[in-house]
Amino acid sequence: MRIVSLAGGIGGARFLRGLRAAAPDAEITVIGNTGDDITLFGLRVCPDLDTVMYTLGGGINEEQGWGREKESHVVKEELAAYGVEPQWFGLGDRDFATHIVRSQMLEAGYTLSQVTEALCDRWQPGVRLLPMSDDRCETHVVITDEQGRRAVHFQEWWVRLRASVPAESIALVGADTASPAPGVLAAIEAADFVILPPSNPVVSIGTILQIPGIREALAGKTVVGVSPIIGGAPVRGMADACLTAIGVETSAQAVLSLYGSDLLDGWLVAPEDSSVALEGVRVEPRPLLMSDPDATAELARAALTLAQELSR
Ligand code: GDP
Ligand code: CA
Repeated sequence: MRIVSLAGGIGGARFLRGLRAAAPDAEITVIGNTGDDITLFGLRVCPDLDTVMYTLGGGINEEQGWGREKESHVVKEELAAYGVEPQWFGLGDRDFATHIVRSQMLEAGYTLSQVTEALCDRWQPGVRLLPMSDDRCETHVVITDEQGRRAVHFQEWWVRLRASVPAESIALVGADTASPAPGVLAAIEAADFVILPPSNPVVSIGTILQIPGIREALAGKTVVGVSPIIGGAPVRGMADACLTAIGVETSAQAVLSLYGSDLLDGWLVAPEDSSVALEGVRVEPRPLLMSDPDATAELARAALTLAQELSR
């Protein structure tokens, strides 16, 4: 069985751990979001790729959902002592090593795909992890604050401002000239079906879908998605702020309509959202809370079963 999955950070990574448990013999290719990537202190940081890699590789900080376990913050404290900005982005010492290796390899001329493969040699995530693109694309957000109307990097809005200032618009800068990373279109082509985890529909899945060629490639496949919205609220985090920015209501119905029936064939919603419907999409209510590994594997199994039925 060949499965392709798109993924952001925490929501994607947790779901993928369940998917790997539900389909231990499957060949899983993960297309990771790189729209969150940012250069800090001269280092290239890829938060979503690293969250997937650490979660599946057994190095994640479980409570936090991102960053390394048993982490210390000496480098961050030393940088702050020099007054170096930004101080609002949390990078631990162990995590710094990953960004140093990545930046060194990128500087030497390796592509982000090659770097990701090299980092995964250590972590052995049990899936093939591909960045959505080797071309630099970054999500920027237009806001108005005390400094006036301006575009800031997604991380500044999300992490520093905690999305407290409304986003007037969200754009993936560089998307129009970007290409899917090597192997992305071939993996989709070869897949028996595609599963969309409950990742952020705007700045995780939505970003990946903006890389020219990816959405078109998915149109010909059986695609099953898991709703990140339960009963009108994101389960975790601030996805509602992103949906509002693009004029979409925070509901399982609105996210289904946003993805559309040209992309989706199946859509898993929570039991309280069982009235959700869209012509051409099979909607099934299932428990959607990834509260522990068993519940997550059960959710992944439900997505797999629906995808298998629909691809027949
Ligand atoms: P990020 O890049 O770290 O923000 O992570 P993702 O984009 O991969 O996932 C974030 C999304 O996961 C949020 O919008 C949440 O609504 C969703 N999410 C988190 N936990 C759960 C859960 O237990 N069940 C479901 N259905 N969605 C979840
Ligand atoms: Ca992310």
